[in-house]
Amino acid sequence: DSSAARDVEVLVVGAGQAGLSVGYHLRRAGLAAHTDYVLLDADESPGGAWQHAWPSLRLFSPPGFSSLPGWLMPATEEDYPPARHVVDYLTRYEQRYALPVRHGTRVLSVERGRGPDAARLVVRARTRGAPATWRARAVVSATGTWGRPFVPRYPGAEVFAGEQLHSAAYRTAEPYAGRRVVVVGGGNTAAQLLAEVSLVADTTWVTLRPPRLLPDDVDGRVLFEVATARRKALDSGRSDPGGVAGLGDVVMVPSVRAARDRGVLVARPMFERLTATGVRWPDGTAQEADVVLWCTGFRPDLQHLAPLRLPRDGAHPAVVGTRAVDEPRLHLVGYGDWTGPASATLIGVGRTAREAVREIVPALDRPDLVAR
Ligand code: FAD
Repeated sequence: DSSAARDVEVLVVGAGQAGLSVGYHLRRAGLAAHTDYVLLDADESPGGAWQHAWPSLRLFSPPGFSSLPGWLMPATEEDYPPARHVVDYLTRYEQRYALPVRHGTRVLSVERGRGPDAARLVVRARTRGAPATWRARAVVSATGTWGRPFVPRYPGAEVFAGEQLHSAAYRTAEPYAGRRVVVVGGGNTAAQLLAEVSLVADTTWVTLRPPRLLPDDVDGRVLFEVATARRKALDSGRSDPGGVAGLGDVVMVPSVRAARDRGVLVARPMFERLTATGVRWPDGTAQEADVVLWCTGFRPDLQHLAPLRLPRDGAHPAVVGTRAVDEPRLHLVGYGDWTGPASATLIGVGRTAREAVREIVPALDRPDLVAR
């Protein structure tokens, strides 16, 4: 029922760091809050994924290198701020720029309007149990990945009698005290949870490839620098220099360093299967386990875009910059390097957001608006 639909120029789905950065640039271009643009966010409170992360999660870069456009993240006493600090920052960021976020509003679908609505995208949502519809001339999808934890399939997963959980469901090490825990994954999440769980449990670390530990004096800044250098090379028509570090590389934050010094940061190759009582490798060796902790990442949360039947490029919708191929009114921001270099980081997403808004605003045909 589009008769009760609200009309806006630009609708942003998701108000985590990516959505807020887009909001910042829309505001800066002169769009009016609520009437010209709105952000719909499924969570009841601000902070995006950071509010759901385990409390001990720490950023892998200092605050000065973890900022959104316009306002530096306030400093903390520690070099690497906790997730809570990011939640506070995003909460205040939303307020500071008076961004029109409707929390508790989950977008169910984005569809192409028909008939008199043909120029618009129709966005159907549920807001505190009640249906609501918007029509927008442009939609930015910024829903992140937290809603889609990824667990790879291994044979025997269904016979394993112990507990399996994804890092998204992890809170503290306490429930694992005295148990045998297999930690799966070669990234920062696995390293940080291994560091913490190994203080109270007997841990085994398994990774698909040998983990790449960054030197002690290098932190998340280098990951961003690599992404920036890559972008500069691509922009100037040079070939892709690749990078020594990807976001999968482990930053040696203090807890991970301590784990290495205790001798627990030693990875085994991936097991072949789970058994009733643990895991088993191809050579027949086995490890008894009570818990398997999957730190195996996330996938883009894009179910709401299904009605658009977007053409794909491998694992994700095809895009040029941030714009969806075959649906120029849709932009995707913040999901990973495929939506812009380092666009899934606090410091990297601002640039992607600015570029998206620079493409969206001219298409609105509103001479009063200027994207900067
Ligand atoms: P999110 O933060 O997930 O926000 C998406 C928002 O969209 C949420 O508020 C959600 O409620 C909403 N939403 C989802 N679906 C819908 C829907 N259908 N309708 C309406 N709303 C919806 N980056 C760094 O820069 N530094 C770090 O140190 C760092 N550490 C990380 C550690 C971990 C363990 C992880 C997982 C990521 C880390 N990242 C880090 C990466 C990145 O900053 C985060 O993944 C970030 O949360 C992505 O922001 P986002 O805005 O794209 O998505």
